[in-house]
Amino acid sequence: MFYKRIELRPKIQGIQIDSQMQKLFWHFLYALDCNGQILKYYKVIQEENVVLYATAPKEDSLDEKYDSVYVREDREKISELFSICVKDCGKDLGSNEYCECEKRGAMEMRTFFQDADSPFTCCDCGNPVALYELPKPRGAEDFLCVRLWRQDYCAIDLLWGNSFDDRYAGRQCTEPDSPLSRQGRIIAQYVADGLGYPVYYHLVCGSGEEGQTHACPVCGQKMRRRKMGENEIDVCDECKLSYDAN
Ligand SMILES: [Zn+2]
Ligand SMILES: [Zn+2]
Repeated sequence: MFYKRIELRPKIQGIQIDSQMQKLFWHFLYALDCNGQILKYYKVIQEENVVLYATAPKEDSLDEKYDSVYVREDREKISELFSICVKDCGKDLGSNEYCECEKRGAMEMRTFFQDADSPFTCCDCGNPVALYELPKPRGAEDFLCVRLWRQDYCAIDLLWGNSFDDRYAGRQCTEPDSPLSRQGRIIAQYVADGLGYPVYYHLVCGSGEEGQTHACPVCGQKMRRRKMGENEIDVCDECKLSYDAN
C-alpha cells in the first residue's frame, strides 16, 4: 500500500474551516474508502492547510478516473473552495502488492480481523485486487456492501480469536449458511456476475487429513485443488466455495 498526503489549498484567502467543511472532508474519505480507493487508515490533520492522510492500494488509486459518483460529488464540492494536491509519501514495505494481472481465471473472497486490504484475491498471482477495478455489485454505485460485510467479518473473527464466544462466532466463519456467509456469498456472486469468471467464497475449515481434498459442505462433492499464488486452496466450482488445502 502507498501513503498519500492530500493537501487542500484554499482558493480564497482567510477561509474558515467550519464543522460543515470538516464533515465534507470526512465524507470524501469515507466515499473513497467505500470505493476501495483508500484503505481503512485515514486522518484529517490541520497543518498550515488541512491535509488528509490516507493509504491507497495502488500508486494511482486516487486518480479521478476511478471515482464513484459519491467520490466525484465530494471532489467537486471540495474543489469549489480548495485545490486538491496529492503527494506520494512512499510505499509501505510490509504491505501486499496488488494484482496487476491482465486476465484473471478466478478470485477468492476472504478477510481476517486485522486485514485492511481488499477481500478479493486473484487466484493467479495470489495478491489482492483493488475494489474499484471490479464491476460494482448489482444495484450499487460503490462497494459499501463489501465494506460492511468486512467490518462484520473482522468483528466476528476477533471475537472468535479471543474466544469470548467461540461457538457462535466460529459458526459464522465455518458454516456456508450462517448469516455472515450468506451475505458474503451473495456479494461474491454479484461481483462474479459482472466478471465472467468465478469468485469463490472462503470458509474457515476446522480439520482434515493432510493431503486429502475437502468435500464441499453444501453439495458433498469432492472439491478440486487449485493454486492461489504460492498457496493451494480446495474449491467447489458448483457452489463457489473454497477452503484452505490441507
Ligand atoms: Zn493477479
Ligand atoms: Zn459444492
